[in-house]
Amino acid sequence: MLPPSDDHEASSYDQPRGTCPVCGDHQVRHLVIGYLAGPPAAASPDWVSWVGCVHPGYNRCCDACGHTWTASAHGEG
Ligand SMILES: [Zn+2]
Repeated sequence: MLPPSDDHEASSYDQPRGTCPVCGDHQVRHLVIGYLAGPPAAASPDWVSWVGCVHPGYNRCCDACGHTWTASAHGEG
């Protein structure tokens, strides 16, 4: 299987971090799904976790209260 050839999304991470819907804290962690080869180097802030192809069932986690939820793929979290 060939790796994806277009890496225009891997050069930077510009998703808005957003806030927790439960406690309103800004310490939201993003789980990015689908990068089989690991995170792009120096492309994302430390609050972004690269989880490869294994979907944990959510893609947002609050570091303040531990709440997890799924945000839409596009738009604000
Ligand atoms: Zn929270």
